[in-house]
Amino acid sequence: MRGARIEVTGIVQGVGFRPFVYRLAKKTGITGYVKNMGNSVEILAVGGGEEINDFLAGLERDAPPLARIDNVSVQPTDEKDLQAFKIVESSSAGGSGSVLPPDVCICETCLAEINDPSNPRYGYPFTVCVDCGARYTIIETVPYDRVNTSMTDFPMCSECKREYEDPVDRRFHAEPTCCPACGPSYHLYYGSKLVDVINPVEAAVGKLDEGRIVAVMGVGGTHLASALDDTVVQRLRRRFNRPEKPFAIMVRGLEAASKFASLSEIEKRLLTSLRRPIVAVQKKSVAPELVAPGLDNIGIMLPYTALHHMMFNYTDADGFVMTSANLPGEPMFTEAEEVVASSFSDYCLVHNRQILNRVDDSVIRVVGDRPAFIRRSRGYVPEPIQLEKESGEVVLGLGAELNVTGCLLKGDRAFLTQYIGDTTKLRTLEFLESAVNRLLKLTGTKSVDRIVIDMHPGYATRALGRKLADRFGTPLSEVQHHYAHASSLMAENRLDEVVCLSLDGAGYGLDGSVWGGEVICVDEGGMTRSASLEPQPMPGGDLAAVYPARMLAGILHSHYSEEELKSVLARHRGDAFRDGELDLVLKQLRSGFNTPFTSSTGRVLDAAAALLGVCWERTYEGEPAMKLEALADKGKPVFELPIRFSKHQGREIFETGKMLKESVEFLESDCKKADIAASIQNTLARGLAILAVKCGRQNRVKAIGVSGGVAYNNAIVTEIERHVKSEGFEFYTQTQAPPGDGGISLGQVWHTIKKGR
Ligand SMILES: [Zn+2]
Ligand SMILES: [Zn+2]
Repeated sequence: MRGARIEVTGIVQGVGFRPFVYRLAKKTGITGYVKNMGNSVEILAVGGGEEINDFLAGLERDAPPLARIDNVSVQPTDEKDLQAFKIVESSSAGGSGSVLPPDVCICETCLAEINDPSNPRYGYPFTVCVDCGARYTIIETVPYDRVNTSMTDFPMCSECKREYEDPVDRRFHAEPTCCPACGPSYHLYYGSKLVDVINPVEAAVGKLDEGRIVAVMGVGGTHLASALDDTVVQRLRRRFNRPEKPFAIMVRGLEAASKFASLSEIEKRLLTSLRRPIVAVQKKSVAPELVAPGLDNIGIMLPYTALHHMMFNYTDADGFVMTSANLPGEPMFTEAEEVVASSFSDYCLVHNRQILNRVDDSVIRVVGDRPAFIRRSRGYVPEPIQLEKESGEVVLGLGAELNVTGCLLKGDRAFLTQYIGDTTKLRTLEFLESAVNRLLKLTGTKSVDRIVIDMHPGYATRALGRKLADRFGTPLSEVQHHYAHASSLMAENRLDEVVCLSLDGAGYGLDGSVWGGEVICVDEGGMTRSASLEPQPMPGGDLAAVYPARMLAGILHSHYSEEELKSVLARHRGDAFRDGELDLVLKQLRSGFNTPFTSSTGRVLDAAAALLGVCWERTYEGEPAMKLEALADKGKPVFELPIRFSKHQGREIFETGKMLKESVEFLESDCKKADIAASIQNTLARGLAILAVKCGRQNRVKAIGVSGGVAYNNAIVTEIERHVKSEGFEFYTQTQAPPGDGGISLGQVWHTIKKGR
């Protein structure tokens, strides 16, 4: 072989891949060129057979840290010797699918530069190189060249250009290369007034130390920052209208993190990884209570940009509150004007580089020693999830309603969008549309064969689905919510058969009722709902999800006379109902008016939270169940609660009403609430595990898994896992896509191609 034409796909753009290839070619004595092809990298390698073999071996072995090589195809050619090896201009011709890397944290070398007073980039918050920094957040389209990023607004100075063009420099073809002389900069505002200071970052940190609230624009959006002090956090909560929602904190380093939380090895690894997610970890009592009121865990992250490291250079504080700045339910602010115009903060530290792709911080919780994404966003997106088989069709899934992501299935890869959020808000729905469009663009996708949506007739994502189906002239399919959870679990674990416990708050069922505690069996015959939790009345419909005591009254209603129920509720939860509300609730329960039924796991946990007095009103998604979990964490599952099953409409159900009634008895005899909470979680887990095992045996399916929002509950998942494994089954969870509704879009696309086969 005199020469080889090589196509490399994977994450090979924006990771210093071409400079790496250049250096490798020099080292191995190869001539030719390397070229970005939009969706892949093309290399022409000319040399002796041995040189070419060395070159090919080095290509995979020594690839840069951010690169991920999925495929290398080699075609022999007869090109003659080309004298030199060159990096040639990009071509926008569509290849078969390279992707951009995600945004990662600043590297050690750049960090040393910003801390070195003799370096031109000393104290420069946008310092990056080919191994680190912003990528996805600044790109408009492929190929990944400076003109296609928001750095195009900042022409390089001669010194930056020299580094950028020098093949041995670590900024060689690093597209976001810039310096204080030519790059973007930060400005500090007080209200709408520009504050005239030499060092706006230092000044902003000074304000934080004084107890002021500062909006800090970063790489993928904006944070609201404050000191870690309950008085200041309380003020932030009032200004921001977030009475209870947990805030994340950013701390100086691992040592500071260990002051506020107990960290396991895997949690430490996640915190310090290049991707720098927020990790929800076990809170210590010294952590300010108001950062995560009533919860046993706290979201912590480490600094990830030059700016963050500089902030800690200017203070002695161990950390700051750093929570996404957005209007309730709406996407995070990405424009300096809207940050300055909002009244959440006293000061605003904003920059003048466009954020082209909004990316929230990723959030991970370790459940049963495995990471579970609460949000998969910065640091992970747009990296695809690798599937087992190629799909002939290009399929786009649009998720459900809350915690939405979109998912593009192309070939054997599933590209999830970043975390989008609550699509009941128009601006969030628009964000979903733009994120999907960006994904189509970055993957060079011009046509889509099918669009998939949730079955719920009221979800706004349906309207977007219809719009996209019209645009592409493609059919629109529906996938049931809990089937999508099961499919999402199967997709990333490469399973053909599974019994999936799809456990969450609510999803529209095949029968039109509200599901959420489902045993979904998937075998050769397809998917079926083989068992579930007992359907329970929700007096007032959605109100029962907002006020958990309504759910409690609903579940207990058939187990007591109304007089008894009233006195039980008065004894324990007299303060949970407003005047006359309980009578109205009882009337609804008697007549069935506006009282749909639900087999939801979340609603049972809500009712338990109300019974044990940890939550009267849900102010954010999952709040009652999270507070119940925090209470249960302080107790032990010492009480024997009944696990009874019966038949309902042909399937087996777990009678949660009997379980909850027995909990009332323990409460009446003054048992420790934390122990009751732990016993309820444990009993629920065991009952569900028993149903899953029974279903697995009947259908000869060896794999059992858990998906849905309840998959973030460590106690429940651990107990299910213990039981399932003790019965000889394999156990699966989701570690690549969120088990919550952020993973629904993956399940939707996977379910669709599976069914088509
Ligand atoms: Zn760097
Ligand atoms: Zn410069």
